[in-house]
Amino acid sequence: MKIIPLSEGSFTIDGSKLFVPFNSAADELQQRPVGSLLVEIQPFLIITANDILLLDTGLGCTDDSGELQLCRNLENHGIQPADVTKVVMSHLHKDHAGGVSRIDKETGERVLAFPKAKYFVSRKELDFALEKGLPSYIPEELECLKNSSQVIFLADQGVIEGYIKYELTGAHSPFHQVIWLVDGNQRIFFGGDDAPQLQQMKNRFIAKYDYDGRKCMDLRHQWWQQGETEHWTFLFYHDISSPIVER
Ligand SMILES: [Zn+2]
Repeated sequence: MKIIPLSEGSFTIDGSKLFVPFNSAADELQQRPVGSLLVEIQPFLIITANDILLLDTGLGCTDDSGELQLCRNLENHGIQPADVTKVVMSHLHKDHAGGVSRIDKETGERVLAFPKAKYFVSRKELDFALEKGLPSYIPEELECLKNSSQVIFLADQGVIEGYIKYELTGAHSPFHQVIWLVDGNQRIFFGGDDAPQLQQMKNRFIAKYDYDGRKCMDLRHQWWQQGETEHWTFLFYHDISSPIVER
């Protein structure tokens, strides 16, 4: 399996939960509101023998022509939106699900961004997201998942087509799930926001922004250990400097 990180850059986020682009060469973190966090955003493209697969879909930023940054990043790797065969979602927070859908230029209606892909989504997470809404979820971007024949709703755990294993953890958010891709000896682990950065795997700490911070901490520890024994490849969504780490 070939792994391509699709970095969308760095942002700051404060109490308003708005993501503001951050350019480390020109911007000073101190000039942003007190308590602002620096957040990096990075979905992953995985190319297998049979699939062109996305793990989460980024922040949903668009350029002047209305094209999703995610799609532009894919095109830079020679992939068109219609080439994507699977989209697997860890959870639906707005910084992970922004590129699930886009506005169709001709009709003005919101459509799924990847017309030929199957979307794999936790049913409980979608129900929760649509009910909960802002500021963590953007229901209007997620509505078109509800009744689409492209969407396959996942149970609490299982295996998709023999090589994509998923498991609901309820750690970072109540219905967050983590994903393993297994092909021969290669075992890729995508922990979404349960395991967002390399540094968090090494240091034990409880994050305030997690739904169940202790569970996140314990799971990270467990995965980091197990990953060492079984030589997992870790993918970190919020870590542009260490996107892929082999144990
Ligand atoms: Zn999240």
